[in-house]
Amino acid sequence: MLQKKSNSRFIALGALVILMSHAKAESIEGRSGEIIAIPASQQLKKGQFLIKQGSQVLQLISLPFVKSDLLITRHAKDVLVKHVNFGESRITIADTSKVNLSQEDQMRANAEAVQIKKALSASTQKITPSFQFMPPVPGMITSPFGKQRFINDVPGSAHLALDLAGSEGTSINAPLKAVVVLVGDFFYTGHTVILDHGYGLFSSYAHMSETKLQVGDFLEQSELIGLVGSTGRVTGPHLHWTVYFDGNKVNPESLLKKDFLSSLFKGVIN
Ligand SMILES: [Zn+2]
Repeated sequence: MLQKKSNSRFIALGALVILMSHAKAESIEGRSGEIIAIPASQQLKKGQFLIKQGSQVLQLISLPFVKSDLLITRHAKDVLVKHVNFGESRITIADTSKVNLSQEDQMRANAEAVQIKKALSASTQKITPSFQFMPPVPGMITSPFGKQRFINDVPGSAHLALDLAGSEGTSINAPLKAVVVLVGDFFYTGHTVILDHGYGLFSSYAHMSETKLQVGDFLEQSELIGLVGSTGRVTGPHLHWTVYFDGNKVNPESLLKKDFLSSLFKGVIN
C-alpha cells in the first residue's frame, strides 16, 4: 500500500509510465540480422536505397547481429534490435593448422580480411537491386544464419551466412544482377567471389571449386558464378553464402521470401 507521503512519487511514476508508453508507440524495432524499412530520413545521404508506396518514402536499413537485445541509433532514430536464438552447432576440423593459425597463415588471413573490407567499402549505383532474390543453388539449408559455432569445442564467432547443400561441381548462379568486385583464393573461404548488387547490397560465394569470373564482370540474374567445392576451411562441399547490406551481414534466408520488399511495408512503424 502506498503511504500518503509518497503520493508525489506515485504521480511522478505515473507520468513516467505515460512517457514510456508514448515513446514505445514511436519506437522502431526489428530482429537481429534483418533488413527493415523506416520512414526516410530528412537528411538523406547519397546512395541510400529508398522505396515508395503512395506518398510514403521509406529507406532500408540493416540491423546488426546481436547476442542480446540492443538499442542502437540509426539516422537519428532509436532502433531496438531484438536478439534471436539461432541455436548452436559444433564442428570438428581435424586439420588443426586451420584452427590454430601459424604466424604466416594469420598474416595471410589478416591481409585477405583487409581486401574483403575494401571490396565492400564502395557500392555501385549503376545497378538498382530488385531484392527479388533467387537461390544461388537449389540445395537445402544445412546451416542457418546466426548459429553460434563451436570449432573443436572452442566457441568461435556466430555463423553470419547461410550454408546451402550442393555436391562438388553444382552450378552457383547469381541471385540478382551484379558486378564482380572481388575474386580470390582465401585462407578461410577458399575460391571466393564477391558481387555488388548496388546501393550497398553485396553477396559472397565461398569454398567454390572454381570460378571463371574477373573483377568488373557484369552478371544478369541467374548467370553462372562458379561451382560448389570444398576449398578453404570446410568440412565438406557446400556453398557458404553471405549477404551484406548497409554495412552489416544480414540473414540471406529472409531475402529468399517472395515479395520481400512489399513485406517490409507491412512492418513499418511511423
Ligand atoms: Zn557457412
